[in-house]
Amino acid sequence: MLDMFDLSNRVAIVTGCNAGLGQGMALALARAGADVVGVNRRMPTETMALMTAGGHRFHNVMADMSKMESVDKVMTEAIAAFGKVDILVNNAGIIRRNDSIDFTEKDWDDVMDLNVKAVFFMSQGFAKQVMTQGTSGNIINIASMLSYQGGIRVPSYTASKSGVMGVTRLLANEWAPHGINVNAIAPGYMATDNTTALRDDEVRSQEIVGRIPCGRWGKSDDMAGPIVFLASDASRYVNGYTIAVDGGWLAR
Ligand code: NAD
Repeated sequence: MLDMFDLSNRVAIVTGCNAGLGQGMALALARAGADVVGVNRRMPTETMALMTAGGHRFHNVMADMSKMESVDKVMTEAIAAFGKVDILVNNAGIIRRNDSIDFTEKDWDDVMDLNVKAVFFMSQGFAKQVMTQGTSGNIINIASMLSYQGGIRVPSYTASKSGVMGVTRLLANEWAPHGINVNAIAPGYMATDNTTALRDDEVRSQEIVGRIPCGRWGKSDDMAGPIVFLASDASRYVNGYTIAVDGGWLAR
């Protein structure tokens, strides 16, 4: 039964894995057997050390995912490193906070370019390669509670993450006939750099934890089971779906 979750001989690309949820998911995929290609703007020193300590094969590509040229660079280097690709985790993402009345075009474009445009075009580059290989593939996009809810003071983030859920469904429809499953994970409130501002605000932090049925912030380890499931044969008939990993937040 557990063979269905085995990722031996699979190659996984994970964008933005120097820290946070990306690091947790890259390690989980490696522990399940995958070789991992990380995509980062800075050297992912800690992730590399953890991969080496675990005896996992890891190749880092230095690239800014908000730039279109990064798609070809990532695919070329991934193939040079491991010869093929099987799994893509579109994790890299940013957030900008400001009142909507004052929100700038730059804060809109920066977030949309990375959080949704790069997700689409990176998926396109990956799918072209998988179709050329004639193999199957798994794409996992990282959505958010703000794929379901409005949020406040994060207009471009809400727009981008709502877009991620829609694009996930659309790509699943188009690429299912090619054996490519496209799903998403919507993390709840997780303790990473992305939520430092929220956790530093004691009042807001208490409000958030008080509303989470599990009664705590999520951790990057909490992504391990769901990412391995969606990257593996265990989820082969799951397609176009966004799984919330939120300690019950959406059920409330
Ligand atoms: P994080 O800030 O620790 O991680 C973001 C990652 O993206 C980092 O590795 C960062 O280096 C990388 N990155 C940023 N800009 C990049 C660029 N231009 N090119 C390449 N890489 C880039 O935060 P996180 O919480 O680990 O976020 C990971 C993903 O999870 C993001 O998509 C985020 O929106 C999403 N998410 C986080 C939470 C949360 O509560 N932390 C909740 C829902 C969704």
